[in-house]
Amino acid sequence: MLADIKSFTRDELAAQFKSWDLPGYRLDQVLKWLYEKRAASWAEMTNLSKGLRDQLALHYSLHPLELVRKQGSRDTTQKFLWKLSDGAMIESVLIPANPALYGEASDRHTLCVSTQVGCAYGCKFCASGLDGWKRNLRVEEIIEQVLATERWNEANAELKPVATADVSAPAPRSALPVPRLINNLVIMGMGEPLANYENLLKALRILNAPWGGGIGARKITISTSGLAPQIRRLAEEPLQFRLAISLHGATYETRNKIMPVNKKYPLAELTSACEEYQRKRERMITLEYILIAGVNDALKETKPLAALAHRLNAKVNLIPYNKVEELSWSRPSEDVQEAFLAALESHDVTATLRREKGHDIDAACGQLRLKTERELAAGFPDRDR
Ligand code: SAH
Ligand code: SF4
Repeated sequence: MLADIKSFTRDELAAQFKSWDLPGYRLDQVLKWLYEKRAASWAEMTNLSKGLRDQLALHYSLHPLELVRKQGSRDTTQKFLWKLSDGAMIESVLIPANPALYGEASDRHTLCVSTQVGCAYGCKFCASGLDGWKRNLRVEEIIEQVLATERWNEANAELKPVATADVSAPAPRSALPVPRLINNLVIMGMGEPLANYENLLKALRILNAPWGGGIGARKITISTSGLAPQIRRLAEEPLQFRLAISLHGATYETRNKIMPVNKKYPLAELTSACEEYQRKRERMITLEYILIAGVNDALKETKPLAALAHRLNAKVNLIPYNKVEELSWSRPSEDVQEAFLAALESHDVTATLRREKGHDIDAACGQLRLKTERELAAGFPDRDR
């Protein structure tokens, strides 16, 4: 099988182009087609000669992701189910930061990106791990989620990357080489990102590079269930990505009830890896805490959570649990959620609680894939694209 052209960095491609005696500007043209115009085929690259396009096609593959299904609508969270070239399915979620609450279009879009097909970590509340782990995503499959989402958006003329048109809001546009629809990434989709470390980091370097995606490293957040050795490794990376820890329990006992990874990397080890990250990066970590009724939502949990947040100089993101059909867990009442937040704040912790309604398709990544696979197995694909 040929390697996909999007799995290579500019330097790697430059070496190949040089061996073909091509002038330097040819590579710039190709990169522009790939990352700025999001070309899905060689044939689209009309300013390249037919000969060069044939040569590229002999040497590299170029696979766009295929849309299987989409949920959600304009200005709300939209979930995309993609089919990969081997038939496996993954999800990405497009989240407008300001979902037109005040009658304005949102100009900032975050994409929640998957890194594996399934997940081996088997957290008890999560849909992504229910059918186990299948494989790591390749570099280009991680990158394509951004490009394919933007390609889809362009073809369907839904959301606009508000570039220069809006004179009522003359905020300086970011210094991106390309005004992208997606200018924030959260690596929080299906899979454990740090278990696919090499491919993820290469994909993020390409998505960050000025010749590639041009998305700022500070606009990229990696979420992990707590792979301590890889957190230490990430602390050494030259690029300053943001880090979120899926904590969900602030004591060994509570975390153990819901996250098997806690056996391998117990809370104390995770904490010390985070301390190292924090020391080296001088950057605030976010602790993600899903509130699950009767499991981790008791007020007594806020004390160790606050102690941990202080120790790591971290802020806490409280996320009401999203129901997963096949699981019996549920979210606590709003009163319980607010009381938990207030208790944390009374301990001087910076905390947020996700309060928006209609999050039925959000966050609980892995559900659309699971539903579709179950339907396909039963022979009744109910498409709502
Ligand atoms: N494997 C990584 C990243 C993917 S999970 C990790 O665990 O961090 C991304 C986030 O979604 C995690 O914080 C995870 O705990 C959360 N999540 C999973 N299922 C959820 C659900 N049903 N409701 C709310 N959040 C959920
Ligand atoms: Fe995997 Fe993250 Fe889901 Fe846990 S929460 S099963 S690590 S995707």
